[in-house]
Amino acid sequence: MDEFELIRRYFSRAGAERADVDLGVGDDAALLRVPEGVQLVAAVDTIVEGRHFPAGCGAQSIGHRSLAVNLSDMAAMGAAPAWATLALTLPGADAGWLDGFARGFSNLASAHGVALVGGDTTAGPLTVSVQILGHVPRGSALLRGGGKAGDVLAVTGTLGDAGAGLALSTGALEAQGSAAARELVRRFEFPTPRVQFGIAARGIASAAMDISDGLAGDLPKLAAAGGLGATVDVQRLPISDELRHCASPEQSRAWALGAGDDYELLVAVPPGRFGELAARARQLNLRLTAIGELRPGNTVTWTLHGAEFTPPVPGFDHFRRASTQITV
Ligand code: ADP
Ligand code: MG
Repeated sequence: MDEFELIRRYFSRAGAERADVDLGVGDDAALLRVPEGVQLVAAVDTIVEGRHFPAGCGAQSIGHRSLAVNLSDMAAMGAAPAWATLALTLPGADAGWLDGFARGFSNLASAHGVALVGGDTTAGPLTVSVQILGHVPRGSALLRGGGKAGDVLAVTGTLGDAGAGLALSTGALEAQGSAAARELVRRFEFPTPRVQFGIAARGIASAAMDISDGLAGDLPKLAAAGGLGATVDVQRLPISDELRHCASPEQSRAWALGAGDDYELLVAVPPGRFGELAARARQLNLRLTAIGELRPGNTVTWTLHGAEFTPPVPGFDHFRRASTQITV
């Protein structure tokens, strides 16, 4: 299979068909029709074997995650995703692997109405870069820095599941075989980007970001972007029944704070509007949990049972943290 056959077979019609794609895969570049009155929203993320996922990770999961991490960035902006391009570096053209990868990518793209409109395919160590393009009505994007002192800080879904799932799949945590363990692994392999919630939060949330590096690392970034501090009650972090079943409370907390692979959203919302946002989350069958608030100042205080608490140093997850460090 040469490069052209590979592109034709796996990527020429991946994802959704969209009427706003004037020209997709096949020419030198894609031609896309951007609606009136919107801002184009662009993001790119790269995942590398041995750094962002273990060597030997399932191809379908890699296809899914390469797009999910980008959809999560759209969600965090309150943007509607529309088009994606895919730069794929492959050690070889393995048809079984490509089938799985294309299925993972396409299923998630179709589910979100995203069309794959172009890309690049080269030989080399397994690396997947996806660029996503979407849009928001002008002025309605959710930014990190929009929060005010007194705003409620809340997170979607449950935290720590994907961290535990990764530990289960690398053998660092042993609870194999149980339904709970399988669900945690699924949460790592096939995270659900909160795109619909991000769109629903437009005009209600004052700030948002996706938790891609773990709450302990990411929440201070949202606070700092608004020139604020924050307080968080660690006892309130939403922990799933599956995670409780497989790990101690201390270990569950460590993953909830330190592992970022859940791709949940962190939002700030004025206290008078929290109920409205929670109702929107319920309509989407999604939990929204208040965990703290933004405060004046520049420090983030974590408390557990009323006492000050120091989150475990990110790096808890040795495989991922240690190896994603870039030293220059
Ligand atoms: P060029 O020489 O212009 O870089 P390529 O031969 O790399 O073109 O690609 C041919 C067409 O296939 C282009 O439209 C490109 O966008 C698309 N393409 C290449 N690789 C991929 C991929 N992995 N996924 C989707 N489209 C791809
Ligand atoms: Mg090319």
